[in-house]
Amino acid sequence: MDQVLVTGGTGFIGSHTVVELQNAGYEVIIVDNLSNSSIDSISRIERITGIKPHFENLDCLDYVGLDHVFAKYEDIKAIIHFAASKAVGESVQKPILYYRNNVNGLMNIIDLMPLYGIKHLVFSSSCTVYGQPDTLPVTESSPIKPATSPYGNTKQICEEIIRDVVHSGSCDMRSIVLRYFNPIGAHPSGEIGELPVGVPNNLVPYITQTAIGMREELRIFGDDYDTPDGTCIRDYIDVVDLAKAHVVAVKRMLEEKQEEPIEYFNIGTGKGISVLELVHAFEKATGVKVARRVVGRREGDIVKVWADATKANNVLGWHAETPLDETMKNAWKWEQKVHGETEKKKGKE
Ligand code: UDP
Repeated sequence: MDQVLVTGGTGFIGSHTVVELQNAGYEVIIVDNLSNSSIDSISRIERITGIKPHFENLDCLDYVGLDHVFAKYEDIKAIIHFAASKAVGESVQKPILYYRNNVNGLMNIIDLMPLYGIKHLVFSSSCTVYGQPDTLPVTESSPIKPATSPYGNTKQICEEIIRDVVHSGSCDMRSIVLRYFNPIGAHPSGEIGELPVGVPNNLVPYITQTAIGMREELRIFGDDYDTPDGTCIRDYIDVVDLAKAHVVAVKRMLEEKQEEPIEYFNIGTGKGISVLELVHAFEKATGVKVARRVVGRREGDIVKVWADATKANNVLGWHAETPLDETMKNAWKWEQKVHGETEKKKGKE
């Protein structure tokens, strides 16, 4: 069985991807330092698929540790690199942490790959590399804009590093770079989902935590933008659909179907949804009201961005499939489950 090593595999997108890889018949090895995720992900994944992934509790900054892992598993055919710090605001406060984690982690992996004959890398990138695009929807050839945060800059730098290494010919490396739009939702089983530490930065966890009563109200950051209802527009992609894009990418690389040694794909729905529209979609799907108030704009927010996902549709044969109301129902199912479990734990203490 082909082995796929997934860094950050206990995290939000990582855990969903592990499930889809296992469903597709790959043997998965997770490398994660659990800095922003829980070891419970492993048993949760096993509950969904019936298969326990291999797990190595390891930081990608630990070169020697990674070397041991690469040596231990002998049939690693591809790596999906998710492990990275991802909070835009925190990256402004702690730039060195972000450059170290995101850039050095990737370099350690790329450095080791040829030593073990591993050729294929799927890299977890972001639509943040486009900044505020001049024209919408944004395609893969839209210009890369100067980054507005250290986090965004790490994604650009990592893409450049991969490009330079692939083009150097110094090793036989191939890569698929997936530029995600806004991943939301949870697995329909309710077993895995997004688990923000502390107060969520992202919109959907904030909505679900408000709906369940953990937060007083959702603050909508600005309703005076140049959009139909004045709130910002994003392309919200279901996390299971996103996970499936990784499986398609791995398969494409292993079957040597790439047209270029490095390929870029936008992974989004192709549809822009405003903050208010998303709140309404949640309320309609779940029947639960979300207390909310419009406050001032959040610094650094892009006004509107959504994907042209035609390339992923045509070349990868991948499509966003899950209807928004189902995504919202799944996010809510997950929130209720996590909240219930936390309350139970508290009760026992
Ligand atoms: N947003 C909001 N209230 C929140 C969190 C987010 O109004 O508590 C808005 C935010 O201003 C943006 C959209 O929701 O317009 C998506 O924000 P998120 O942080 O989820 O993603 P990103 O900014 O990375 O696209």
